Amino acid sequence: LKLTTVEEMEAATARLLETGAKVGADAWQLRVKNQTPHCKFGEQGVCCRICAMGPCRITPKAPRGICGCDVHGIVGRNYLKFTAGGAATHSDHGREICHTLYEAKPDGAYKVKDPEKLIRIAKEWGVETEGKDIYDLAHEMAETALMEYGKPFGVQRWLKRAPEHTQKLWHDAEIEPRAIDREVATSLHMAHMGCSSLPEALVRQSLRAGLADGWGGSMCGTEFSDVLFGTPKPLDTEANLGVMNADNVNIVVHGHDPSLSEMVCEYADDPEMIAYAKSMGAKGITVSGVCCTSNEVAMRRGVPMAGNFLQQENVVLTGACEAIVVDVQCIFPALGPLSKCFHTKFITTSPIAQMPDSDYIRFDVGTAAEKAKQIVMTACENFKNRKPDLVYIPDMKQKATVGYSFEALVKTLDGVTNSQVDVTGTTKPLIECITSGVIRGAVAMVGCNNPKIRPDYAHIELMKKLIANDIVVVASGCSAQAAAKAGLMDKAAKDLCGAGLKRVCELADIPPVLHMGSCVDISRMMILVAELSKDSGLNISQLPVVGCAPEWMSEKAVSIGNYVVATGIDTFLGVDPYVAGSSEMGQWLTEGVRDWVEAAYTVETDIEKLVDKMIDRIEEKRTALGI
Ligand code: SF4
Repeated sequence: LKLTTVEEMEAATARLLETGAKVGADAWQLRVKNQTPHCKFGEQGVCCRICAMGPCRITPKAPRGICGCDVHGIVGRNYLKFTAGGAATHSDHGREICHTLYEAKPDGAYKVKDPEKLIRIAKEWGVETEGKDIYDLAHEMAETALMEYGKPFGVQRWLKRAPEHTQKLWHDAEIEPRAIDREVATSLHMAHMGCSSLPEALVRQSLRAGLADGWGGSMCGTEFSDVLFGTPKPLDTEANLGVMNADNVNIVVHGHDPSLSEMVCEYADDPEMIAYAKSMGAKGITVSGVCCTSNEVAMRRGVPMAGNFLQQENVVLTGACEAIVVDVQCIFPALGPLSKCFHTKFITTSPIAQMPDSDYIRFDVGTAAEKAKQIVMTACENFKNRKPDLVYIPDMKQKATVGYSFEALVKTLDGVTNSQVDVTGTTKPLIECITSGVIRGAVAMVGCNNPKIRPDYAHIELMKKLIANDIVVVASGCSAQAAAKAGLMDKAAKDLCGAGLKRVCELADIPPVLHMGSCVDISRMMILVAELSKDSGLNISQLPVVGCAPEWMSEKAVSIGNYVVATGIDTFLGVDPYVAGSSEMGQWLTEGVRDWVEAAYTVETDIEKLVDKMIDRIEEKRTALGI
């Protein structure tokens, strides 16, 4: 296996930027220069503009805002608002999926593709399933799930999936999330002028809002997406810009909600549409993905991944993208003006994410089929507008095996045990590998790219070092795509592992970096650790498992970080979450929360040190267990 290096990816980007320069296109690499140096007050989180007496900036000479709030209150409120933004976003995505499930019909555009999973969740929630039509059950479950967003009393249903010890910690710390929307609203209330300015209270609510996301809205998004579109199973695909095909109509799907991308993929495969593309002079249609939408369709359909977050402009810069079709989240408004420099149609589809210089084709459940067809036809018709002298697709792609949902992972790992039958269908084979030391531990690698960190470099280098040290990696979001682009999701990457992990990869026929999905799918990782804890009898915090987001950038990532920590998993960040300005906030996040949830954050911007700290933490946990 020859990995694709970050240097090679950067050289390809540089070549694409030359095309951009020819047509006067802007790019994030140029905008970063214009924005550097960043505002120091913003970086440290010490600027407050939540009331019109401000904005107030904290300096040694001005240690309090006009209302008297100190730096710790200001940094804390900013942190909580940041979390609330992320929790709202993931959870609203989950809500949309519930609405789609509510509209599912046997003869409609959206069907129930995994009825067994629906029945399993219904039983878990105590909903009667006997003798019920599967669509009646789907609608009842969708409505029940939607109630989780606004119910006046009680806590999230999904919390019962956690080990009892974890549930008790949440209860005792008063961070069990109630209604999902309530935790978001309460966070905004607490961060309003004249409410909370006590770091402890702000951090506590940040964990609670995060849990409303990971053990609430995101879990709804993941679980009901599986019900609608199928629970992912291992599939072979390819990754990096070379998956685009110069002879074909290229449609790039980008964003997060699979409701849109599933329909676009469905129609792009339709013989009638392929014939239409041919009538326009193309040889066929290639759909590829960017960002988490890409993860969703790669996991379920094997649709190739053109790239991750910071590659979104690159797909347009190839000059071979007929349409970039987006739904919600992480979409650069830059795609509007950029697409105008090429023939590319920038198609926005969601009322939640409307942007200048785009063609808005509003997409909703009722008209999904018709709109998806319109989008595919629009792309086909645009093929003739391509400017051949601007076309350059970097010849760069890697094979990847993706689709390791929790269910698929358990099934796959059955292959590595030589012990009794009663361990099959559980996480016990994985526990056996960990306790015997064949695998030292696991790292959940998640999160975005961020120009503050050399893009993809941290993801790839950390993963290489982890697998060389017999630490298995589960990855999601743009981190997973970085791995796939480099070649770390090729099964041949086992040769980069230590002897133990290599053996496991051979026995189970898996790559050492396992693709678990999109960013809402970090809930799959929570289910995995919960089951590992139950099957091993250990608390989650005792497992030699840590989380890492080395290149994170979004509010969603902070919400994720909060629920991963609150679940008992030490979490390592490569970018500071704007809390450097407050020693008290730093203390709460890196130490104080450990008293509540048995885990905390580590922030380390030196990537070499970051990986060593993770390995040390895993080894410390092993030593504490005597394994
Ligand atoms: Fe300034 Fe206080 Fe208003 Fe914030 S809430 S802008 S610190 S006066």
